[in-house]
Amino acid sequence: MDSIGMTAGAAVGRFAPSPTGPLHLGSLVAALGSYLFARHASGRWLLRIEDIDMPRVVPGIADDMLATLEILGFQWDGEVLYQSRRTEIYNDALQELIDKGMAYLCGCTRSEIAKIASAPVPGSDEIVYPGLCRDGIAPGKVERAYRVKVYDEVISFADGIMGRYSQVLTASCGDFVIRRADGPFAYHLAVVVDDAASGVNQVVRGSDLLTSTPRQIYLQRLLGYPLPSYAHLPLVTGPDGAKLSKRDNAVSLAANIDLRKEGGRLLLAALRFLGQEPPVFLVGAPPQEILDWGVLHFNPENIPHVSSPFPAV
Ligand code: GLU
Repeated sequence: MDSIGMTAGAAVGRFAPSPTGPLHLGSLVAALGSYLFARHASGRWLLRIEDIDMPRVVPGIADDMLATLEILGFQWDGEVLYQSRRTEIYNDALQELIDKGMAYLCGCTRSEIAKIASAPVPGSDEIVYPGLCRDGIAPGKVERAYRVKVYDEVISFADGIMGRYSQVLTASCGDFVIRRADGPFAYHLAVVVDDAASGVNQVVRGSDLLTSTPRQIYLQRLLGYPLPSYAHLPLVTGPDGAKLSKRDNAVSLAANIDLRKEGGRLLLAALRFLGQEPPVFLVGAPPQEILDWGVLHFNPENIPHVSSPFPAV
């Protein structure tokens, strides 16, 4: 494992956007939430661009995200990490899982799995892999993805915002993919390898990833990594409670918003979204001053548990 910015004992948080579209209100909330948790604990805050899923990556968006964050006053520690440059490191982790007898090659296509598997897990589009290739690929099938073996055990953790969350992986997803058939390493593997390598001990992100966390904790255990603390933030919804599309709520430079004018107001609204109560005298203040106030007065207990629309800016 390499060590990027490891600081024993101190808090290390991170923001890890995927450059598949401009920064949006949800990512602004994730950036701010992770920043407040880390900086309030006098910790480091790292930035990682999750550009591993190359076909979905939009050229130029990563730079746009960095420029947007800078204008909004966010200062990150150390170098930005790009997942697209870390294939060898993910490969080492995959090899370790293979050597431990925990990873195997699977020859099943999605449609084959969908035909055999029981109905998708309620509330998700996830299909439980029925383990067909666990003991070797069936004759005539081509090697496709790597999967990790899971067992019938409860994985449970105390989320800093959402409370206790538990899952049995055999029931929620089955042996899951860690390297996809089309080549890239799966998000779950990359995220745990990178968090461990960077010494991240606080994972703060949107609650759409709450259900992914048990898979990540499972991989951390298999790979012998320390377990970070988790806090999953409420999601930004449309006025009717529906999920917002990334395009509709873009806040980046790419969306032609004059962030030099609007940035401070956006940050104040994001603070209010997270249950913080910035004082009126901050209206019109530069973003950095608003962030400094947020860090100093941050109270994680006030973060709402339920998703809601973004307050008026
Ligand atoms: N890259 C993910 C996203 O943009 C976040 C991953 C994480 O924070 O673990 O939704």
